[in-house]
Amino acid sequence: MNEIPENELKLKPKNDGELGFGTIFTDHMFQMRWSAETGEWNSAQIKKYEPFLISPAAIVLHYGIEIFEGLKAYHTENGDIQLFRPQKNIERLNNSAERMVMPKVDPEFILGAIKKLVRLEKEWVPHTFGTSLYIRPTMIGIDEFIGVHPAEDVLFYIILSPVGAYYATGFAPVDILVESEYIRAAPGGTGAAKTGGNYAASLLAAEEAKKKGYTQVLWLDAKERKYVEEVGTMNMMFVMDDEVVTSPLTGSILPGVTRDSVIQILKDWDIKVSERMITINEVIEAAKSGKLKEAFGTGTAAVITPVGCLNYKDNDYIIGGNKDKVGELTQKLYDYLTSIQYGKKEDPYGWIVKID
Ligand SMILES: *Cc1c(COP(=O)(O)O)cnc(C)c1O
Repeated sequence: MNEIPENELKLKPKNDGELGFGTIFTDHMFQMRWSAETGEWNSAQIKKYEPFLISPAAIVLHYGIEIFEGLKAYHTENGDIQLFRPQKNIERLNNSAERMVMPKVDPEFILGAIKKLVRLEKEWVPHTFGTSLYIRPTMIGIDEFIGVHPAEDVLFYIILSPVGAYYATGFAPVDILVESEYIRAAPGGTGAAKTGGNYAASLLAAEEAKKKGYTQVLWLDAKERKYVEEVGTMNMMFVMDDEVVTSPLTGSILPGVTRDSVIQILKDWDIKVSERMITINEVIEAAKSGKLKEAFGTGTAAVITPVGCLNYKDNDYIIGGNKDKVGELTQKLYDYLTSIQYGKKEDPYGWIVKID
């Protein structure tokens, strides 16, 4: 590793309260290259975080040949730093790679790289509960070649960003617009891969929803605009009386690590959780009748996001009778999951990986 001269190190944020989301980056990054010629990764190194040169013809810039991941390192009260289920993220990275015809990584090696990088940047992991060091592994095709083809020259890198709460408004319910015109991912498409194009394609709908005062959109299935899929960067769960319902992994939604964790926790709490197709009409009818007690999103960035109101076809439907109140189960899940992530409670699942 190249040592960075002291005077070139960045100033760390003085106050955890000033951390936004994804705006500050640490001093170092991990990177490695792959070429189809050898079929192997090479030149793995931790180096200074700085802009890099790629050709204006690089295929990532033209055809979006790109995949990424998002996970976090947490500071515990006794000073440890730990990761939450990083193996799941690496596994998903490899699934995304397969879908985008990109090379796979060695899971053990990448977990080692993440640990080494976070250990090196440990001073950057914020201490306050709710803050963390966001880890962003990224893989891009950098072939200098105008033509649609699988990447033969690939750059993989990991950057780190100390982050505060995802929503400036804190842990409070958000209002969501059910999108009945645009779609996110179609059957057979790339919805299950964390690839840049999915997010580029979602922006217009999200902007239009924001103009109307909604935080994000809830996507419906591409074919019939009938079944609920997921929100921008979170999976959705609906608490219908005593049953928690979430969309099954049909291929057009992203298989969230938080979603998977919440399902396991609910099962252990003897709460009925169903991965089943759910129509927007069922959700709206349940909101009207009072059967829909709570709704929340799950995702690494915000962990659990309570939803207070759904707008469908220009009508607002309040969830659980009060759009500003966080539901009981939503709160309980948030408290439990974050207490495992921040080491306040014992982890009975083996989800935590310590950075020693
Ligand atoms: C990342 C992401 C999620 C949440 O996945 P986690 O692994 O829980 O962070 C959900 N939906 C989409 C579209 C995502 O990109």
